[in-house]
Amino acid sequence: MRVRDAGTDARPESLKIDATSVTILRSVDGWPARAPYIEPVIGGSMCSLAAGAGADPNAASLGLVAVGSFLGVDVAPHPGWSPAELERFSRFAEQGDLFRADVPRMRQAPRFKAWLRFTCPEAACVRPHRAGILDWELTALQGRLHDRPDSEVVHAIRNKFGTQMFAPGRAPALYLGNQENIVRRRQFMVLGTYYPPAGLARSPLFLDGL
Ligand SMILES: [Zn+2]
Repeated sequence: MRVRDAGTDARPESLKIDATSVTILRSVDGWPARAPYIEPVIGGSMCSLAAGAGADPNAASLGLVAVGSFLGVDVAPHPGWSPAELERFSRFAEQGDLFRADVPRMRQAPRFKAWLRFTCPEAACVRPHRAGILDWELTALQGRLHDRPDSEVVHAIRNKFGTQMFAPGRAPALYLGNQENIVRRRQFMVLGTYYPPAGLARSPLFLDGL
């Protein structure tokens, strides 16, 4: 894909995508195929990302981090999109951005928001984290269950972002990203999840990367 500078967004990892230039060269499906690409970039923690952003607002804004302990998934009714969020969706639609096809559906907020509670692997992580889940899969999951009762949707969210990801024998990691708003740079959210079988993960095979 072609990318360009993100304009006023000065975070080092932020780039705008030219949606018309996206070309799929090869599809990498399944944990064994993905691990050689993903494992080498796992590093740091929620604590280290937040400390970095606290010391320098333009420190790493994105990371794939390991988790110490999983403490739970909180689910609460979605208050509806804020005017700022709706404006952002309109901008996506006008620019012909990557997910344009999903914008009309996004106008209706999903029923629930969700947060993940966890600790980092390091012993110095003494205060559990509670990070909002912004993973697109949270919205998509609720879209698929649009005609099901609330209790079933809540159960499915807890299952997907808790039970399934942190099942015994899995080695979960979280894609974390912070916000463009400079006063909230220390606030990282869950943008995605990675939870391969433990036997496959963190293998010495992958330590040198590709
Ligand atoms: Zn921590």
